[in-house]
Amino acid sequence: MPPSDAQISFHSLKISMPIHEPSVDVLIVGAGVSGLIAAREVQSAGRSVLLLDKGRGLGGRLASRRIGAATFDHGAQFITTRDARFEEILKQGAEAGMMKEWCQGFSTTVDGHTRWRGQPAMTAVAKYLALGLETRMEKQVVALRRAGDLYSVETSTGEFYSAAAVLLTPPVPQSLALLAAGEIELDSAMRTRLEGIQYERCLAVMAVLKGPSSIPPPGGLVPTSGPVSWIADNQRKGISVEPAVTIHANHEFSLAHWEEDRMNSGRLLLEATQSWLGAEVLSYQVHGWRYSKPIQVDTHPCALLQADPPLVMAGDAFAGPRVEGAALSGMAAAETLLAHLPH
Ligand SMILES: Cc1cc2nc3c(=O)[nH]c(=O)nc-3n(C[C@H](O)[C@H](O)[C@H](O)COP(=O)(O)OP(=O)(O)OC[C@H]3O[C@@H](n4cnc5c(N)ncnc54)[C@H](O)[C@@H]3O)c2cc1C
Repeated sequence: MPPSDAQISFHSLKISMPIHEPSVDVLIVGAGVSGLIAAREVQSAGRSVLLLDKGRGLGGRLASRRIGAATFDHGAQFITTRDARFEEILKQGAEAGMMKEWCQGFSTTVDGHTRWRGQPAMTAVAKYLALGLETRMEKQVVALRRAGDLYSVETSTGEFYSAAAVLLTPPVPQSLALLAAGEIELDSAMRTRLEGIQYERCLAVMAVLKGPSSIPPPGGLVPTSGPVSWIADNQRKGISVEPAVTIHANHEFSLAHWEEDRMNSGRLLLEATQSWLGAEVLSYQVHGWRYSKPIQVDTHPCALLQADPPLVMAGDAFAGPRVEGAALSGMAAAETLLAHLPH
């Protein structure tokens, strides 16, 4: 496929030329946790690295939103860790004032394990991880191609980036689509392995309340029945100055209502959680997470798709369906890239 063109108008003359950015050692698609952690490790090993993300804000599924003066975490709700390396990163983030301990569990699941949150909200975790890295936002990658000894990455606005190695961190079906668009073929065992990875969906409601909710401290709970898998009070959590509740629908409800009117699905979820709301709903918004959490987790912490030049895939589908899994996958990906990059 020919490169799409940027057009420069000069009177009636139109000159078309693709925009080629300078080459880097490692280009990372996706500035979520896995991409950011990998970038830090690659950069600290002395290699140049650039992150491209289609979103307006960093963090991917670590997401926060404002409605008026109310603040919501509407993706990942908290971070837990058992890995000493990731715990050290969280502690450093806390020292920098960008993360905080939220609690040690919720109602029946108080287990002594720290639940971390971002400060002032979840996207602060991504902002902390991105310090000192070169990130370019609103760059939607549409294809990845081989270009001799390098890779060439094309964006939806006709920019081309070349790199000695590439790491793909979008959810696996989206990464596979980028390979298909650039005609990069995988061996059949790898293709079968990756095509088998599917994700839960999640409809997330963000509701501004007139008064405090009835959700008990510390502000989060898992209902035992019904269509809701999680409900949290962002004010009690300490991130919102106004009463603000996040509701996550379970996979079954989200899938069944995916194509329906989002505000109507939101209303059903608000009705299902009425006893926890405890106050009038002033306004609400609904966000759909098509790739919320992987249902299957791969047996390896990342996937080396091609060794020369190195092409790696990472994310929570490889090391666990949580923020920590994404971080550990990012670490494994950095190690794999550094081992295969030419010196
Ligand atoms: C509703 C919900 C609740 C959750 N709750 C928790 C929780 O409480 N605790 C927990 O530990 N985990 C939780 N998780 C899971 C956690 O958020 C993820 O495991 C983790 O954030 C995944 O990180 P990642 O880097 O693998 O992927 P992502 O965060 O998805 O990052 C991938 C990035 O790639 C970008 N991208 C995709 N396609 C392109 C493209 N073509 N071009 C450029 N950029 C692209 C995306 O914009 C995104 O920023 C939750 C997730 C959801 C959705």
